[in-house]
Amino acid sequence: MAKNTWEVAVKAIEAHENIFIFHHIRPDGDCLGSQFGLRELIKTNYPEKNVFVIGDNGGIFPFLKWDFDNFDSIPKQYLENSLGVIVDANNSNRIQFSNIFVNNFTHKLRIDHHPVDTDIKYDYVWEDATYAAAAEQVAYIAMMANWKVTTKAAEYTYLGINTDSGRFQYEYVQQRTFDVMSYLHAGNSFRVWDINFPLSIRDEQKVRFNAYMLLNYVSDNKVVWFYASKKVQKKFKLNENSANDVNALANIGDSKIWVLFIDQPDGTIRARVRSNGIWINHICEKYAPGGGHEVASGATCKNKKQMKQLIEDLKAEVQKHA
Ligand code: AMP
Repeated sequence: MAKNTWEVAVKAIEAHENIFIFHHIRPDGDCLGSQFGLRELIKTNYPEKNVFVIGDNGGIFPFLKWDFDNFDSIPKQYLENSLGVIVDANNSNRIQFSNIFVNNFTHKLRIDHHPVDTDIKYDYVWEDATYAAAAEQVAYIAMMANWKVTTKAAEYTYLGINTDSGRFQYEYVQQRTFDVMSYLHAGNSFRVWDINFPLSIRDEQKVRFNAYMLLNYVSDNKVVWFYASKKVQKKFKLNENSANDVNALANIGDSKIWVLFIDQPDGTIRARVRSNGIWINHICEKYAPGGGHEVASGATCKNKKQMKQLIEDLKAEVQKHA
């Protein structure tokens, strides 16, 4: 069930002079695209407002500009009548710089497509899990509010829509998604190719890693998984952030769920879990911090024993739906 509508977000934005937009930890195309897309849209349509973007893109998507603001160097006067906005996230353990987000602003707004009851008290929430991307929500706000969309705003929001929808292939993609895409093209020089081409370039080491993964995955009772141990990461000169392509394991044969386990520097094992129908987020929540979307979630295994337990839980879930 959705919580509120796009209008809540517009109301929150219009009521504040200073707006600070945040993203989630381990940033991806959707949280970054939503964050920078929203900043550009506000700057274009409400030029009198001050908008800041807090965080770090960690070097990803270098073909777009990620000019973050440094919170510590922003004069404190901007905290008056201020709105903290989190896009594509919810709980404090999911927000990058959540201490800053929680403690500094007059009011807080959350725009998110994850169905989550949060530990943060928000003043304004628009949560709707039927959107393929938080960036689709941001672009939808622009369309419904009749905001002007610059080429830059279209590029950022499209990055989020493209990456979170798996290039328009997932279940939540619908007529609305294409209405929004059409609106992104209006009155500017946006072309999807300008984003699609740089996105499509493949890192050679990752290609080799994916080939290895596809030759060595384990398939057990319709659950497919691969373990990117530290040794494997090293073998392909990758790390915990780059040995990450879980969807290389998608939909092999009659499999229902696929998981990429990735050794982390702190000794935990991150699980990226995906499914083609069976809901898995409630299982991932047991491996804290864990959770996410119904069919795309993450979990944290403290050791190999927990990793095996998660696989067993997922196999049992498949059995339930047999
Ligand atoms: P990932 O595999 O990291 O791309 O995560 C898939 C989805 O699950 C994303 O939408 C995340 O927001 C969510 N997610 C991933 N890890 C966690 C976690 N530790 N706790 C809650 N949600 C998560």
